[in-house]
Amino acid sequence: MKYALVTGGSRGIGRAICIQLAGMGYHVLINYRHNDAEALVTLQAVREKGSDGELMKCDVTDQAQVSAVLSGWMQSHPDQYIEVVVNNAGIRKDNLLLWMTDEEWTGVLNTGLNGFFHVTQPLLKNMLVKRFGRIINIVSLSGIKGLPGQTNYSAAKGGLIAATKALAQETAKKQVTVNAVAPGFIRTDMTEQLNENELKKLIPAGRFGEPEEVAALVGFLASPAASYITGEVISINGGLYT
Ligand code: NAP
Repeated sequence: MKYALVTGGSRGIGRAICIQLAGMGYHVLINYRHNDAEALVTLQAVREKGSDGELMKCDVTDQAQVSAVLSGWMQSHPDQYIEVVVNNAGIRKDNLLLWMTDEEWTGVLNTGLNGFFHVTQPLLKNMLVKRFGRIINIVSLSGIKGLPGQTNYSAAKGGLIAATKALAQETAKKQVTVNAVAPGFIRTDMTEQLNENELKKLIPAGRFGEPEEVAALVGFLASPAASYITGEVISINGGLYT
């Protein structure tokens, strides 16, 4: 049995990634924070792919909680390890910096950047010992380009891009690859409030992307076929990039 963990797997892009990895034969650990009902929908979809999974509810901003959940899993699976981790959990709390609250700043940084550390650090040792691992971080166009109204989000994603490049160099010799996937506008709850009709005029492809399109790229990066790709940031944005 091969194990993959997807943070923020209850909805949107994370759900599509869980389903993609299930189709590749992974037993999928579906992390989420609040939404039990949606997480169960993901689990059902994973099972419909002919694989299996389990819910792994915890808040990635809470290091003690993440550590307890992951060490509990490792203790109950002494002969197995999580070979793929997709750091997908993320939130937006947009505001101009002039008006930004501490909570808007720290909430976004704690989820998108500190969450990566809390989840990945405990899993790394086994990947290195077993000499195979895939760490895939979901970042954003906002973290490459910087977007006004998103200094918190751009900082979280930009920080995660830099962490991806640094960690990739620490782990490459042990066949542990570390890459980032940078979506543009993808149709999920996160972009539900945006004016798609206006924004799609800016996108060369003329439409928002679908979560499944991001998941297909993540699936490739997780596969053995991507073994020589590491430290990369791969955009998926319908041609929108700068
Ligand atoms: P979404 O539909 O809003 O779903 C967010 C997911 O993250 C949910 O599963 C949520 O769990 C989980 N989550 C949030 N905070 C968490 C925490 N503290 N601990 C654990 N889980 C947490 O978002 P999405 O659009 O699929 O985005 C997924 C990722 O892609 C994010 O990192 C986002 O920044 C990035 N991204 C999205 C777009 C886009 O256009 N949609 C573009 C670029 C990048 P609950 O269901 O329990 O709340």
